[in-house]
This record gives sequence, structure tokens and C-alpha cells, in this order.
Amino acid sequence: MSDIETALWWARRDLRVHDNYALTHAARAGECLPVYVFDPETYGEREYGGPASFAFEKTGARRARFVAESVADLRESLRDAGSDLALAHEDPARAISRIADAVDADVVYCERYPTPEEHAVRERVREALPEGTRLEPRWGSTLYHPEDLPMPVEDVPDTFTPFRQDVEHAPDCEPRDPLGEPGLPGVPSALADGDLDAGTLPDPSDLGVADASDWDAVAPTDERAVLPFDGGESRGLERVREYVWQRDRLRQYKDTRNGLLGADYSSKFSPWLNLGCLSPRYVHREVQAYERERVSNDSTYWLGFELLWRDFFQFQFAKHGSQHFRREGIRERENIQWTGNDRLLDAWKRGETGIPFVDANMRELNATGFMSNRGRQNVASFLANNCRVDWRKGAAYFETRLVDYDPAANYGNWAYQSQVGNDGRDSYCNVVKQAKQYDADADYVKRWCPALRDLPPEYAHEPWKLTPDEQEAHGVVLGEDYPEPVINLDASYGKLR
Ligand SMILES: Cc1cc2nc3c(=O)[nH]c(=O)nc-3n(C[C@H](O)[C@H](O)[C@H](O)COP(=O)(O)OP(=O)(O)OC[C@H]3O[C@@H](n4cnc5c(N)ncnc54)[C@H](O)[C@@H]3O)c2cc1C
Repeated sequence: MSDIETALWWARRDLRVHDNYALTHAARAGECLPVYVFDPETYGEREYGGPASFAFEKTGARRARFVAESVADLRESLRDAGSDLALAHEDPARAISRIADAVDADVVYCERYPTPEEHAVRERVREALPEGTRLEPRWGSTLYHPEDLPMPVEDVPDTFTPFRQDVEHAPDCEPRDPLGEPGLPGVPSALADGDLDAGTLPDPSDLGVADASDWDAVAPTDERAVLPFDGGESRGLERVREYVWQRDRLRQYKDTRNGLLGADYSSKFSPWLNLGCLSPRYVHREVQAYERERVSNDSTYWLGFELLWRDFFQFQFAKHGSQHFRREGIRERENIQWTGNDRLLDAWKRGETGIPFVDANMRELNATGFMSNRGRQNVASFLANNCRVDWRKGAAYFETRLVDYDPAANYGNWAYQSQVGNDGRDSYCNVVKQAKQYDADADYVKRWCPALRDLPPEYAHEPWKLTPDEQEAHGVVLGEDYPEPVINLDASYGKLR
């Protein structure tokens, strides 16, 4: 046994070198080995638990690519810093215990998450560790550290506004300063000597997400995509520089954030934040610097406001745990008649509901892995409230497709839109009204539903209002060129009022 302490840094969804508590702690050891494990349970078809269970693909190829790129980028940064990143593709409990054993690790540092699956994996890893190796989880994924909140997480209010007001008004509640990049000690000799294999990046076909032997083959190629969304800390930091400093878009964020078209109506930080390529505290510090150097206004405040929404859902999951994944939600609503209508669900997934604003958004998601916040609210409300399809099937579809999927943000927002979550009111989106408000010229629906391109905007949002003769005249016959609506939208609102 050597006197030098050996640490593993088990990188999870914190794929960055800057402002990383777990890595910074691990780097204080005499030897430190960073490790990333591709967990086979995270890929392929999985059962959604409970009595009304259903199968869905847990990670689609787009997010898998984002993960693979982020891991590759991290490995490069660590190698540049004189360290490395060992890779494995197996059960994390087996992989971490095997590697801990091989390097005779004293301690494993990792990020701590509030969501049940992530918690369960961590505890399995803890149980499998060789005797004498301890696990030290560190919290680092939120803007505010839970210990700095003005209330214990069990008492975080279930609605956002009181939570925000408590946080904003508490005198000592501030985001912590981001940590710099730690100096990294050498890697354990087992890796340096070649006794332990550093491992290689799996291909899409190894993970079972696509029949392709390299990641470029699963890159989104649709030129209508808002951004290419390349994974990795380097690209995440670049996006912050680009959005905040070079393109100076933060100053109008509050006015543009409900947009639908283009790279800059909102920050698009979410994929990097959720995989930990970007620290929310780093983003916050950049916003503060921008406020000092350029302008401090409603828009600069509002980006922090949205990051607080992100925190809110994380703390909600810390408080309520798996209750959030139940169909009845944290409001325990037993009085909603959900249907198991797969015809409606399939039409919704394909972007073939005949409601253009819903279809355009779903087609964007399918083609690119991204959808705006305004779009997400509307398609979720449509499926859950107008169609009354079990909202968890919609949320699970988002889980597969979204490049920025996060369990707390996704299921929390879905439950919220479906009237079972963090909102006491039974609010829902009036899809056509919102379409006309946020897509007044119908440019967005026409981009994703080209069959509607020759319609005047008001009809592009409600093509079912055209008579058969008008349909002929505009070259869009419903049922041939574009689907008939799958439900009577007006009648469906009647049931909600
Ligand atoms: C049904 C539904 C599902 C969603 N699923 C996810 C998800 O899986 N992952 C995810 O990150 N966001 C999710 N959101 C929230 C929101 O739509 C995205 O965070 C946002 O669209 C990402 O784009 P942006 O980075 O440009 O956001 P910006 O408008 O630039 O906001 C900045 C950051 O604030 C955070 N944020 C903003 N709005 C929310 C919100 N409502 N809830 C939580 N965080 C927020 C995000 O981290 C975002 O990157 C969902 C919203 C809905 C309605």
C-alpha cells in the first residue's frame, strides 16, 4: 500500500473541467484517475415502470452523439492537462469497482443528483466498491447549492413563484463562485504502465442507438436546425461566448426568448448545461460580467430567472422523488380520464395531427433533437389536455428525442403542463391562439409543414377552416397534401373549461 492517496473521478453528467466539485476534490489526491462509463441501461428499449407500463427507447441517436462528443472532448482536455479519461461500456457498478480495484483507489468522487435512477446507480456503485474504497458524492449541477437555500429541500415550495421570492429575498442566498480548472496530478501507474486499458469510445452500433460505425453518420443534417449542437465543454463555452459576447443577444433575451426560428432567440445552453459541459454558476458569472461591462436590464435578469426554474425542478425531485413519474403526479390527481389512444399518440409523434403548430414542432424535434420552450409547452399541453393521452408517453418520447433531455426538467415540465405537477391551477395552452401570437406570419409552420406554404397565415394555422374549393385553390387538400385534424380542437377545449 502506498501513502499517496489515489482517487477516481467518476464523471457522470458533469462532463467538464471548469467549476467541477467532484473533480476538484479528486484532483487533490496524489494520484487521480478520471473515468467515464457508458451505462448499457441508458441505451436501448426500456420499460416505463408501474401498472400501465410501456416500452420506449431511452436515448435516441442524437443525444447519444452529443454524449459521445462530450466524452471525447473531455478526454482531450484531460490529456492536454497531463491526465486521461478511462472509458468503459458496462454496468457502472462493475466498471467502477473493477477500475478502483486495479488502481487500488482509496476514494471515488462523483456528482450527486436528485433523480431516483441516478441515485440508485450511485448506491449500486457504492455497494460494489472494494473494501476500503469510499464513495464521496458532491452536489454541483444547480445554480444554487441546496445548503445555501433559505429552506431545507424537503420544504421547497411546490410552486415556483414563492420559491423564487424566498430565494431572491434571502440575504445570504447567492450562487457560489465558480471554481477554476484544477491542476491534475498524474494518473495511477496501472494506467500509465498499460496494466489497465484506457478503453475506446463506443460506436453508435455498440450502444445500439443506430446501425452506424461512426458518430458523424448520426449527425443531424437538416439545414432547418437551429444549431448543430455539437457536444463538449469546449463547444459549450464557445456558445456562451458567442451568444452573450460576440452576438450580444443577452440584451434582448426577454423579448426574443419565445421565438421559434433561428439560433439566437434563446441561449440554447440547455444541452451543455444538462450534460454538465457548462456549469450554471459559470453562466451566471458571465451574465454578471455582461451586466457590469455592457448592460443590466430585464433580459439579463431573465436568464437567471430561467436558470432558477431549472434549479426549481431539480429541488422538486430532491423533495418528491419518484412521485413525479406517476401519472397522477405530485398533485395525486385521480380525477383525470386518461386514454391509451395509440392512434393519437402516433400521429403526435410523427407530426401528423393536422394541427400545424403541433406538427411543425414535432417535426422539428424529430429532425433535429430540439424544440423551443414555446413549442414544448404547446405540444405537451395538446397531447395531455386536448387528447388526454397519458402524459408520460409524451414525456418518454421527449426523453428519447431531446438532445437536452434532463429527467427533472422534462418530467417536471410535462407534469406541469399536464395539470398534475407544480402548478395548482388547471392551465392549458390554446394552441391556435398561441400559434397566431408567436408565429403571426406562419413562417415557422410553413418551414416545417411545406404543404401549407401557399396559405395565408390565418389558414396556415387552421387549414380545416378552408372549404374544399378553397383547399383546391390553395393547392392543399386535407387528407391528401396535409392531414385532417385528428381531434376536434374546439370541442376538446370545452371539456377542459
Ligand atoms: C414539456 C417540456 C419539456 C421540457 N424538457 C426539458 C428537458 O428535458 N431539458 C431541459 O433542459 N429543459 C426542458 N424544458 C424546458 C425548456 O423548454 C428548455 O430548457 C429550453 O427550451 C432550452 O432552450 P434554451 O437553452 O435556449 O433556453 P433559454 O430560454 O435560453 O433558458 C436558459 C436556460 O434556463 C433553463 N430553463 C429555461 N426554461 C426552463 C424550464 N421551463 N424548466 C427548466 N429549465 C428551464 C434551461 O437550462 C435553459 O438552457 C422543457 C419544457 C417543457 C414545456
